[in-house]
Amino acid sequence: MVSIFEMLDRKKVLVSDGAWGTFLVQKGLKPGECPELWNVEHPYSVADIARAYAEAGSDMVSTNSFGGTRLKLAHFGLEPRAGELNEAAARLTRETISPDKAVFASMGPTGKILMMGDVSEEDVYEAFREQALALERGGADALCVETMTALDEAAIAVRAAKQNTPLPVICTFTFDQIGEGQYRTMMGVSPADMAAEIVAAGADIIGTNCGQGPEQMVGIVEQLRAAAPDTPIMVQANAGLPVRHGDVDVFPETPERMASFVPALVKAGARIVGGCCGTTPDHIRAIAAAAKKLG
Ligand SMILES: [Zn+2]
Repeated sequence: MVSIFEMLDRKKVLVSDGAWGTFLVQKGLKPGECPELWNVEHPYSVADIARAYAEAGSDMVSTNSFGGTRLKLAHFGLEPRAGELNEAAARLTRETISPDKAVFASMGPTGKILMMGDVSEEDVYEAFREQALALERGGADALCVETMTALDEAAIAVRAAKQNTPLPVICTFTFDQIGEGQYRTMMGVSPADMAAEIVAAGADIIGTNCGQGPEQMVGIVEQLRAAAPDTPIMVQANAGLPVRHGDVDVFPETPERMASFVPALVKAGARIVGGCCGTTPDHIRAIAAAAKKLG
């Protein structure tokens, strides 16, 4: 098993990977189709994504399990297969990338809002526990609770992962810019509040993903760093803010421009840098080259 902590000791900056959702669409995932079902029905296509990122220079590669909680899979009537689909997700990445690279397994939001009484805390805990265990069985080296906006849901996910597996847990939130140097999630959570609560819940690595381009991420990383100076920080920016072209969103940042923000992100406190929506293996290749220059 690969230790993310040992990797962090060895290298100043680790490179994670880029977008999976858009990549699956490119490979033929249709609107309304369950992405996680592809882990068993189109395993070669899913493995291709992991391979493309590993070849581009990712030190750690994710899994096709973002919507893998039973609460999300229920939209497709697939909740009885949560264990199978998540285990397959982790196994596909593990068997595709080289043994010295880490599998950081994706755990996305359930889509339910605890504050609104959509679901009970016990059901959310159980859904993340089941997903975490399955990802561990498939060979994950770390679990990544990502694209979170609500503190209660994210803290439950982190605890479910920490209390039921021995794996390191990463947790990243999605923030919007609400003013000069001010960031909040959709649910009103600031980077400082996120850092305090999520470290207290047991996360080993915290950070931010999605929602913003690399430029805004510098400010978010600074605020996370200030609130949790001893916790490694991960940042996965979008390729800029989407621009509408006809009926599709286009992410404007080129690989070169995204990579140009790596020094600033690292200076702000990031130890792991990758990409989110709109980023491709070319973006990761450019980010990896920039990270290498930093030693
Ligand atoms: Zn994203």
